Amino acid sequence: MAKRNDSPLIKAKKDLWKIFSMFIRMRDCFAATGTLDNGFCCTCGRPKTYKTLQAGHFIPGREDSILFEPTCVHAQCYRCNVKRSGEWVKYYRFMERKYGLARIDYLMRLSEQKREIDIKWITSTALYYLHKIDELREAYARGQQGAKATAKA
Ligand SMILES: [Zn+2]
Repeated sequence: MAKRNDSPLIKAKKDLWKIFSMFIRMRDCFAATGTLDNGFCCTCGRPKTYKTLQAGHFIPGREDSILFEPTCVHAQCYRCNVKRSGEWVKYYRFMERKYGLARIDYLMRLSEQKREIDIKWITSTALYYLHKIDELREAYARGQQGAKATAKA
């Protein structure tokens, strides 16, 4: 929730997070079910709706270097992300299966790096993810049209 005393940078980061979180959840729902509304938690595997999924980080701390790194963030349920603090052991297993150890090592190195993101970067990254969200919506719409055409034939 944006507070009145937030600096422009903090406000921009919060706005980007909303867009990025939307992209992550839509990306993972679409990959899992071909829809934008239904997916699974990456750590407990429970089926969840887009609205009940959160964008959960593999590496905690919300450092600028990994905050918006898409391979470090996946659709996760509230129970795993918040109540169970991310379910790190299960998340590690998930990452190992999905990307392999080299990617995990890379993300660990990245999380150690000092990085300050600025408004310019935030603005261009927000535009990038808005575009990616449009692409997902288009891919979903194409899939729906394809399904209708198949049903008619
Ligand atoms: Zn879960």
